[in-house]
Amino acid sequence: MKIIVLKFGGTSVGSIHRIKKVSRIIKSYSKKYKVIVLSSAMSGTTNKLINMSKQISSNFSDYEYDTLVSAGEQISCSLLAGQLLANGIKSKSWMAWQIPILTEGKHKYSRIKYINKTKVLKFLKSGGIPIIAGFQGVDKNLNITTIGRGGSDSSAIMVAKFFKAERCVIYTDVEGVYTTDPNKLKSAKKIKNISYEEMLEMASLGSKIMQPHSIQDARLNRIKIQVKSSFVNRMGTIITKRKNIINNKIITGISSTDNDAKVTLLGVKDRPGIAASIFKPLSQNLINVDMVVQNISSDGKETDLTFTIKSYDLNKTKKIINKNKSINFKKMIFDKNVSKVSIIGVGMITTPGVTFRMFQALATKNINIQVISTSEIKISVLIKKTNVTKAVKCLHQEFNLDK
Ligand code: ADP
Ligand code: ASP
Ligand code: MG
Repeated sequence: MKIIVLKFGGTSVGSIHRIKKVSRIIKSYSKKYKVIVLSSAMSGTTNKLINMSKQISSNFSDYEYDTLVSAGEQISCSLLAGQLLANGIKSKSWMAWQIPILTEGKHKYSRIKYINKTKVLKFLKSGGIPIIAGFQGVDKNLNITTIGRGGSDSSAIMVAKFFKAERCVIYTDVEGVYTTDPNKLKSAKKIKNISYEEMLEMASLGSKIMQPHSIQDARLNRIKIQVKSSFVNRMGTIITKRKNIINNKIITGISSTDNDAKVTLLGVKDRPGIAASIFKPLSQNLINVDMVVQNISSDGKETDLTFTIKSYDLNKTKKIINKNKSINFKKMIFDKNVSKVSIIGVGMITTPGVTFRMFQALATKNINIQVISTSEIKISVLIKKTNVTKAVKCLHQEFNLDK
């Protein structure tokens, strides 16, 4: 029998009623497959735990953070295994350290490196359904780790990889991957098939539906993903290789962010290596610089430099720049009232004029573009946060995604 991995997100296991529903979904697969289940914490639990840590200290220890926030998954997994047992189905919950799911890297942002299959395989062979905690790991020194918010998606993909599963089904609270967040735009349409590359861009550019690392891991290991709803039984979205997809649309999807900040350094003394001197200490402090624009200096002496970072990194960035003796500038200004809106689609590789159409559509709605960045399959613009809904709606129409 083939192995299938089923992952349930927080809303899918958000109440006892939901856990009962999920147990029926799991049972429906068990005749055809050997099922491995990955579960997130019940919705709201992880946030609650993080808030408690913040009430203790704004500088809460990273080691204790991982021990604390990984606890949510222990609750949901035991409830789910308990429900299956109550239904007469052999099941058992597994925390990451029991398997173990080995991680490497820093606390809070570890990555899964290796999963020992022995115990879980034995249990599967005996007819049991293992319920594995997502989001958690353990490092080589037996410390509990976590793999970043939304990380259960990655746990599921890595389990699918190590157990050579036929497919990984991501059960969530919407029917699949949509052209844009269906909870923000009513006219968003479900996408039947999407390539790993486009999904990776959408996820990295703000679409919360899948965690970006999980898509990267799935792409590298060619894991077939199906995203579907645990609330209604409908066909979801398949995430697969580009060559399996026929799509006549230029743009596949639109993403937006709500946690960006813009930093501008005015009157920076212009000399070779200046940008490197600004960004080196930021990268050493793990601050991710996203969009960058540097004005061409009119007199060859001074220039202005603008870049974006995540808004939670703003205070740290201010401190690092103010402390940086190797740069000279007149003034530093910040803006948290910005958002990045991106259009994504492999269709733009072969279609000229996409950039123009995007900019014109925004201009007709009086939306000012502050910064632009592009790659082969995406165009991103930084705009005022208050304009995001309007921008997404007009771009959705412009590229015929409503139809
Ligand atoms: P889970 O708890 O199941 O992991 P998440 O909350 O992490 O679920 O992700 C599902 C949410 O992602 C949806 O409720 C939806 O609001 C949001 N979302 C953002 N962009 C998209 C998109 N393009 N398609 C579908 N959902 C999206
Ligand atoms: N419970 C974790 C979180 O809320 C992991 C997940 O839901 O995927 O981030
Ligand atoms: Mg999620």
